[in-house]
Amino acid sequence: MTGQGHPLRVDVFTIFPELVDGFATVALLGRARTSGLLDLRIHDLREATTDVHRSVDDAPFGGGAGMVLTPTPVFASVEAVDPPRPLYLLSPRGRRFDQPLAEELARSASSTAGGFSLLCGRYEAVDERVVAHLADDELSIGDYVLAGGEVAALVVIEAVSRLLPGVMGNEVSGHDESFTSGLLEYPHYTRPADFRGWKVPEVLRSGDHGRIDRWRRAMALRRTMETRPDLITARGGLSDEERRLLDRETPGPAG
Ligand code: SAM
Repeated sequence: MTGQGHPLRVDVFTIFPELVDGFATVALLGRARTSGLLDLRIHDLREATTDVHRSVDDAPFGGGAGMVLTPTPVFASVEAVDPPRPLYLLSPRGRRFDQPLAEELARSASSTAGGFSLLCGRYEAVDERVVAHLADDELSIGDYVLAGGEVAALVVIEAVSRLLPGVMGNEVSGHDESFTSGLLEYPHYTRPADFRGWKVPEVLRSGDHGRIDRWRRAMALRRTMETRPDLITARGGLSDEERRLLDRETPGPAG
């Protein structure tokens, strides 16, 4: 159960329910479902069709390449279920899914709605009336084009579910993670202390937790500056204290 005692409910609408269910049956999502923390309901859009071929796509008005997911089974399937809102259409043109949104959606377990819903597109496009009159918003997982929304839906479900209280074995492990504080995570090491001559940094074996915290924070800042300077810009640059920390713990250009 989540903090408020409800599972997080997530409804997924797709023409490939087995894709979503297969992934979400093992590992973290499988455990979250069997332990009652995640109430994942997968709906097959083809079950809402009325023709003998169970068609869900048709040619685009105006011509052009590819097929379009028709509105009829999509509206019928969603309306029959009345799923938790918001209902997000997965789409490369949507709002970018990120860690703050994952955190917001994880908190939605305790809201009146108790969760959210995901609609997986397929083919060249989804009929625009679904976007305009059924979905609440569109979500993208990145600037590339997938063949369908199922993998994107699973990305969202896994990122959100691991934030639910009780889902991760070690509750502390979510706290310092990449993006949680607007920075990428510091490097980790485990045994052996010397692997093929590559030694674990001495500070991590010092037992001095103040030093270890300072080193980790400096490494997180350094790593973020090097690979994601946009995240540093988004948080308003480096403070004077952070510049001093970087100079002391990880000498090099402080940006
Ligand atoms: N023609 C569309 C375009 O250019 O934007 C791409 C359609 S794509 C082949 C089919 C479906 O995959 C989309 O409707 C969407 O549900 C899903 N999809 C593809 N890329 C995605 C992304 N980056 N994020 C979320 N969903 C995506």
